[in-house]
Amino acid sequence: MADLFGKIKKGIDKGINIASQKSGELVEAGKLQTQIMSLKSDRKNGINDLGKLTYDMLKSDSFELEILEEKFKAIIEIEREIEEKEEAKNSVDKPEQKSSDEAEEKAVIFCPNCGAENPAGAVFCAKCGTKMTE
Ligand SMILES: [Zn+2]
Repeated sequence: MADLFGKIKKGIDKGINIASQKSGELVEAGKLQTQIMSLKSDRKNGINDLGKLTYDMLKSDSFELEILEEKFKAIIEIEREIEEKEEAKNSVDKPEQKSSDEAEEKAVIFCPNCGAENPAGAVFCAKCGTKMTE
């Protein structure tokens, strides 16, 4: 799997600069999604193991809570990793949430005549007085 992503990444690096950042994020999100799927599968297997272990212990009348607790902790650890990766993936999926304040500060329009930066919503250019067009 790592090789496949490596190849995709290489292909993107060769691509157009403007698109590379966004595509890089998409690859990153895809990578995280793959890791999440793998972790969820690990968790499922872990829970299955835990169930089987419990069953075997009860059946053979040799219940050892410590062994079960260890398995359980390993599953909790996996769940924690899943949460971390879900969070990371969400921040990649929705970068506008993270930088919305910044985006608002930088909301500007450019004068069609002189190219001066004007605050978004300005009707006339502050520099040359040309009527701004949307
Ligand atoms: Zn102007």
